[in-house]
Amino acid sequence: MVGPSSRVASLGTTIFAEMSALAARTGAVNLGQGFPDTSGPAGLLDRARDAIAAGDNQYAPGRGTPELRAAIARHQERHHGLVLDPDREVIVTTGATEAIAAAVLGLIDPGDEVLVLEPFYDSYVAMVQMAGGVPVPVTLRAPEFRLPVDEIRAAAGPRTRAIIVNTPHNPTGAVLGGDELVALAAIAQEHDLVVISDEVYEHLTFDGVRHRPLATVPGLADRTVTISSAGKSFSVTGWKVGWATGPAGLVDAVMAAKQWLTYTSGTPFQGAVAWALDHADDFVAGLARDLQTQRDLLCDGLEAVGFDVIRPAATYFATTDIRPLGFDDGLDFCRRLPELAGVVAVPHQVLHLDPEPGRPFVRWAFCKKPEVIDEAIIRLGRLSSR
Ligand code: PMP
Ligand code: GLN
Repeated sequence: MVGPSSRVASLGTTIFAEMSALAARTGAVNLGQGFPDTSGPAGLLDRARDAIAAGDNQYAPGRGTPELRAAIARHQERHHGLVLDPDREVIVTTGATEAIAAAVLGLIDPGDEVLVLEPFYDSYVAMVQMAGGVPVPVTLRAPEFRLPVDEIRAAAGPRTRAIIVNTPHNPTGAVLGGDELVALAAIAQEHDLVVISDEVYEHLTFDGVRHRPLATVPGLADRTVTISSAGKSFSVTGWKVGWATGPAGLVDAVMAAKQWLTYTSGTPFQGAVAWALDHADDFVAGLARDLQTQRDLLCDGLEAVGFDVIRPAATYFATTDIRPLGFDDGLDFCRRLPELAGVVAVPHQVLHLDPEPGRPFVRWAFCKKPEVIDEAIIRLGRLSSR
């Protein structure tokens, strides 16, 4: 019988595909999968078009074009004070997703335990399992979703090889603070852990909150692979240009896996992204401001509908507790939501290994035009008048 390998069969289908397909099938407003409905900035788009027209269409070097690697290094220094050698400490990947996959495949051996904080971005656990590693979950608890330092310390043991951290955090929108980062560094040192730090929302923070990269925390620089993506900072999620940075030994391990995954990433986008990293700070600041306004529009609307709303400090996503409206299972709620109200959202519980603590929580994307958010809120009004 032809069928999937056991390696992938047990992983099922990613919730983002399920929910986007549900939205397309039902005509629901899609506040599920997080992607913006505007592209920007014009200079970035023009440069990719020009690169294609100029014939820049064959394989780039495996590590990425020297131009983009240099721009990533300049970005890390200008924004975060991190000094990197673009030839040895930076690689370009096919989105942050490939950087995560290659980091896990390049650094985790079968049987290694990997700490993951749940709810998590779903590819972390899928990749740890594909690599033969053992994901060890530690739960972030509502409503604050702060780092449970004691539980992380208790979950770490002799077989723990790595921890995957995501700040600003999808789906909760929490941003790790200084005390949390210092505590994390202590645990990573005590257990000699590799830290895989997904920082794709590094610039999309609100209310004056600032993201601090893990690699800037004493004790973490020499053990952290930092991952980010042009998709988020420049609203081009479909381009799939990401990167991994860190000490040469760790980046070499990521590259050792990446060469067998895609070998190299889309050439005409690389020069364009290099330009944006150097020149599009104003666009990024404007994007964060717009997202803050959209966050408030969505959160105020969700509150008016009757949900308990957890207003995020960053990212594309707000979380609600659905119990005040008489529901208690987020997955069931999200599957019925197109029919109940013509909207699609994402349940937290599928982003957990232990679904129980995530059951009443649902994630809503606000990286959408204000009129789309308004329409979703009008439709969700049907829930309060049931
Ligand atoms: N990490 C997180 C936390 C995300 O939300 C996303 C969403 N796209 C990714 C990684 C993947 O990024 P990319 O599209 O660049 O692969
Ligand atoms: N990062 C986006 C989200 O969390 C997109 C996920 C995806 O398409 N894999 O919704």
